[in-house]
Amino acid sequence: MSITHASVWLKVLVEAVSTPVLLIDQLHKVAMYNAAANTMFNMHMEPTPLLSKLRYGDVVERWLRTGKHDVEWSPDGATLYRPRVERVNSGSDQIGWLLTLQDYTETHRLARSQAEFIRLISHDLRSPLAAAVGFCNILEQPAVGDLTDIQRYYIAKITNALSTLTGLVENIQDAGRFDPDTGFYEMNLTPIDPGDVTRRIVEAYPMPLDKPNLSVQVAVAEDVPVILADHNMIRRAIANLFDNAMKYTPDGGRVEVRVTRDESEVIISVRDNGLGIDVKDQQRLFEKHSRVEREEFKKIKGSGLGLFIVRSVAQQHGGRVWVESTLGEGSTFFIALPVTSVRVS
Ligand code: ADP
Repeated sequence: MSITHASVWLKVLVEAVSTPVLLIDQLHKVAMYNAAANTMFNMHMEPTPLLSKLRYGDVVERWLRTGKHDVEWSPDGATLYRPRVERVNSGSDQIGWLLTLQDYTETHRLARSQAEFIRLISHDLRSPLAAAVGFCNILEQPAVGDLTDIQRYYIAKITNALSTLTGLVENIQDAGRFDPDTGFYEMNLTPIDPGDVTRRIVEAYPMPLDKPNLSVQVAVAEDVPVILADHNMIRRAIANLFDNAMKYTPDGGRVEVRVTRDESEVIISVRDNGLGIDVKDQQRLFEKHSRVEREEFKKIKGSGLGLFIVRSVAQQHGGRVWVESTLGEGSTFFIALPVTSVRVS
């Protein structure tokens, strides 16, 4: 590329971009801009207009001043932009900023309709699933007649598969609802007994047929108080931890669930002596869709949403979660919930 043509090439390149692009110098003058920026900021093709003179110039000045530009911005109430401000350096000196305004109206619309679609599907799947579980239970009633062992075995298989499917559907639904950043779940705070909730979850859990020698223990300390919490959320968080322990512990292993009281917190812990988790993988576990890449885990089904839900629930209650684990020896997951203060958003 010849030097003499360089600025022309550059101009053509910047003009071709449909996103508004501005280069702003240290004196808050627009040193370079493209056609999209010209239209948006009403620059009348001036060569180096001052930011303060432009339409929305005050908004841009605020982004530069505060550094807070990670926002959704809609100048006309219809189109949504995501501004991005980056420093422009020459050597070690800052000479200005690059501002780009990405139109993400369509992305936003698609994300919303996807969330709505997931919400509808997961909601509609629940009724037929509940009906199927109900009919399996009816089949086991004496009034239906005697079942052979093999029939009973297959009913148990169906019940287990339905339970896995129900858990998956509930997790997809809850991950959207409980997310403290994007969810819109209205918390329903009532007094709950954490020990009682925990015991019921373990009792109702359909024991995996392929792990007849997996032992389960629940211990609730005597001084565990009743706390103010959302019963459904807490139930889903504990159920997820317990389900994981059962999934990631081979037959012959042990799962221990404890509910204790610390000074200001109720602590629910689920300990297993199963596969364990490498330290390097422990950081990401509570993030959405995080699953550990390991040969042994490939056969175990999951969506990577369970621990994200556990953390969201704890956060919504002003609590915390953490894990202690050693690869090959087992893991203990903890949820701590404040005894008194409950964050109501
Ligand atoms: P998933 O649906 O994959 O189980 P989770 O969010 O509940 O999703 O868990 C994320 C990942 O953390 C799992 O895929 C698994 O790799 C790891 N994990 C969770 N609980 C345990 C456990 N008790 N033992 C070993 N690994 C676990």
